[in-house]
Amino acid sequence: MRFSGLRVLKEGLTGNKGWRPHWRDPDPKPDYDIILIGGGGHGLSTAYYLARTYGLSRIAVLEKGYIGGGNVGRNTTIVRANYFLPGNAEFYSHSLKLWEGLEQELNYNVMLSQRGLINLFHSDGQRDAFARRGNAMINQGDDAILLDREGVRDHLPYLDFDNTRFPIYGGLYHPRGGTARHDAVAWGYARGADQRGVDIIQNCEVTGIDIAGGQVRGVQTTRGAIRADKVGIVVAGRSGQVAAMAGLRLPIESHVLQAFVTEGLKPIIDHVVSFGMGHFYISQSDKGGLVFGGDLDFYASYAARGNLPMVEHVMEAGMTLMPMIGKARVLRSWGGIMDMTPDGSPIIDRTGIDGLYIDCGWCYGGFKAVPASGDCFAHLIATDRPHPAAAGFRLDRFRTGRGLMDEEGTGAQHNLH
Ligand SMILES: Cc1cc2nc3c(=O)[nH]c(=O)nc-3n(C[C@H](O)[C@H](O)[C@H](O)COP(=O)(O)OP(=O)(O)OC[C@H]3O[C@@H](n4cnc5c(N)ncnc54)[C@H](O)[C@@H]3O)c2cc1C
Repeated sequence: MRFSGLRVLKEGLTGNKGWRPHWRDPDPKPDYDIILIGGGGHGLSTAYYLARTYGLSRIAVLEKGYIGGGNVGRNTTIVRANYFLPGNAEFYSHSLKLWEGLEQELNYNVMLSQRGLINLFHSDGQRDAFARRGNAMINQGDDAILLDREGVRDHLPYLDFDNTRFPIYGGLYHPRGGTARHDAVAWGYARGADQRGVDIIQNCEVTGIDIAGGQVRGVQTTRGAIRADKVGIVVAGRSGQVAAMAGLRLPIESHVLQAFVTEGLKPIIDHVVSFGMGHFYISQSDKGGLVFGGDLDFYASYAARGNLPMVEHVMEAGMTLMPMIGKARVLRSWGGIMDMTPDGSPIIDRTGIDGLYIDCGWCYGGFKAVPASGDCFAHLIATDRPHPAAAGFRLDRFRTGRGLMDEEGTGAQHNLH
């Protein structure tokens, strides 16, 4: 079933009776060539690229809940390629390019909106840091414009420019940054993978990983044992727990991150904006809700909900930056479990066990990474060699200390990234 304007028109005129489910609901087979544990954005995109690029189809994605129920459907949907450090910069640049062709690639409307992202700065020191970051982005082939105060005012006239504590000096503008519809990304990849023969098996929790003679043999699940010679762990916030099933101890701490959405308003915020003096970022959804978030709750947790001190902090930061949003009523808030690494950068690598691969450590930046992570993880699983764009995401950097990518410059503390 392909989507097209003609098809939408025909269905609209005939009572929308011709649409079919986007993916099958198969029972697990006894064995596959490749099993991916986790049906989030990264697991589904990996399955898609394994099938699309390498022609593999004896693949199962095992998801303990339902597609889109994890972080891929819980995030604030920001997509950008504004990283500074080699290793990260080329990877996120690759990802943004994949985003730009994704709707045509998947024949699915993921509602990519390149509305532009502006990171504000509030001191001379921050201006210098953003100037360097902008130059790194341009060197990488991405777009960056350093705005002064009046330049920011042209784009974002509603900010509080007269705030004496946090004066706005300017901003780093990334015009190709923006947002996408989060669960549509999961659905689009699920549909594309399913069309190429991948079995997407929901309500199937992996409870054990079978290993014999240093080689992975399959997994134990709530729906029985399934054999496979290659298994990819791609479970975001649950990475530490699932890796422990194979006897691995990961350099990951899981923390909760909250987000918020207000009642629907008329269009007011037409960019993605982030505050430079507190952790607060905001955009407006297509339904009109202001979608915003802040920092981690600072304690390790597997609860997909947060606590009130961070709610207060985020609201204060928002009110400081744009006092007019104080009139909007918050409709709902939620939390997601973040797989935080000590340097804030991800891992896409083999493990010490033959046939067992891992893709994790996306912290709170993994939504924008979905296309490139799938592309690179599929490359690793299919060829046993790292993709050039993800060659720095090695697991052993935390053991050797070589190749750490501490984008925030905050040192080896998981919850500060
Ligand atoms: C509030 C919030 C805001 C965010 N904002 C942004 C943003 O603006 N931009 C950005 O780039 N990133 C953002 N992120 C981060 C991003 O959402 C995550 O990094 C990314 O979604 C994680 O990868 P995933 O989609 O594969 O995860 P998930 O969707 O969580 O997928 C992992 C899946 O594994 C499944 N699973 C776990 N254990 C098992 C098991 N034993 N057996 C079978 N299945 C299992 C889970 O059920 C889950 O569905 C945000 C996250 C949150 C919570």
